[in-house]
Amino acid sequence: MSEKSENHDYDLFVIGAGSGGVRAARMASEYGARVGIAEEYRIGGTCVIRGCVPKKLLVYASHFSEEFEDAAAFGWSAPKTSFSWAALIANKDKEIARLSDIYVKNLKRAGVEIHQARAVLDDPRRIRLKEKGGGEKTVRAQHILIATGATPFLPKDVPGVEYAITSNEAFHLEELPKRIVIVGGGYIAVEFAGIFNGLGAETILLYRGEEILRGFDDSLREALHQEMAKKGVDIRVQSDIARIDKANGAYRLALKDNSVLETDLVMYATGRVPNTREMGLEEAGVKLGKGGAVVVDEYSRSAMSHIFAVGDATNRVNLTPVAIREGAAFAETVFNGRKRAVDHSLVPSAVFSQPQIGTVGLTEEKARALHDEVDVYETRFRALKHALGTRDEQILMKMIADPKSGKVLGVHILGSEAGEMIQLAGVALQMGATKSDFDATIAVHPTSAEELVTLKR
Ligand code: NDP
Repeated sequence: MSEKSENHDYDLFVIGAGSGGVRAARMASEYGARVGIAEEYRIGGTCVIRGCVPKKLLVYASHFSEEFEDAAAFGWSAPKTSFSWAALIANKDKEIARLSDIYVKNLKRAGVEIHQARAVLDDPRRIRLKEKGGGEKTVRAQHILIATGATPFLPKDVPGVEYAITSNEAFHLEELPKRIVIVGGGYIAVEFAGIFNGLGAETILLYRGEEILRGFDDSLREALHQEMAKKGVDIRVQSDIARIDKANGAYRLALKDNSVLETDLVMYATGRVPNTREMGLEEAGVKLGKGGAVVVDEYSRSAMSHIFAVGDATNRVNLTPVAIREGAAFAETVFNGRKRAVDHSLVPSAVFSQPQIGTVGLTEEKARALHDEVDVYETRFRALKHALGTRDEQILMKMIADPKSGKVLGVHILGSEAGEMIQLAGVALQMGATKSDFDATIAVHPTSAEELVTLKR
């Protein structure tokens, strides 16, 4: 495998150095393949550079306002606090640069050749690399992996939408806006609403549907809405922008219900689309499906048997750890002779809203659609941390079980550290845990998580 063939420069050429591409490239190289990788932006991809990681740093930053408020009940008197957006962004940028460097080092250590270039397929095996400096070259590869991720989607039918930012720009704003309007009701919208609100911006969230976070368990959606509203986010459902105009250094938003809003910044968080356009994919025989997603089989193989795709470019389950698993499974299958397919059926995930969400398995609605009968256990309580003070933040825990087998079908948590809790609930569900297994587990006291082993219907 390691020998350079007469006919190709690489055994594997990976397009996109994000979570999925980097994992696949490193593993394939360690299995002896000669691997090249191209990245047109920064090594590390969306998650590291302008997604999960910097987002969580901003979430941490935005929590301090509440911590300062709550400190008084524990006897602390803090001097008047102030916040510097510039300091936060500079520190965040430093950390992101450090992480990106680690990705570069790890790729090099594994023997992967890095090309800072945009890659386009000239034909099914030939990749043209348009380098940052303006140069161009062509390489030939035996296998190609498309790991180009996704890019923010903006509805083009809204006049003035070009004034709006997306999460890409939110990480590099020169200053914190005094007022912001966020459009969308998904992961990114609720996370950034919490960030901007916590940092002191007057935050309005406009969502076109009936309740935020469509697809999540209804109890979570409703409870998160209430908790975010308590913290000061102005959530307006069944609300959408008809047009955006500039007005006196700010923006005037005409809403579809004919009302008008004025704000300093508009951010669209209306989903992401696979980054697969203008890459010569269809011309090379790769089939693209809805929204430009690469159509792949369970082994991430496209319509061309030597071209594979992983991660958001395939629009399966658009989460970093899933892309990493898909990248690893691809490398195992193609370069280590062990066929591996990723099971997408039970994926735990967290939303870093405030409070957080942790969720795994079926929602109540889906469970009822699939089973004749389901048992639903639910509890709501105030965390011990808020026993002192006046903050009325509710934690919600919900478990769905199949009464016939006893098997737990879903766990849904809203509350501080829900993301940490759901990782372990995910292990239990992966092992096929029953409600009795949870009940037989001794509680860890005093924690919030202990409620998971004492749930009553
Ligand atoms: P989502 O798909 O989660 O949400 C998109 C939202 O925008 C939905 O509320 C949708 O409404 C709304 N929307 C879509 N089109 C329009 C439109 N034309 N006008 C108005 N509203 C519209 O996408 P995000 O952008 O929030 O996140 C992208 C992906 O990134 C997610 O799918 C997720 O997988 C990933 N991600 C994961 C995170 C995590 O794991 N914590 C964090 C951030 C992102 P409707 O419900 O009506 O369709």
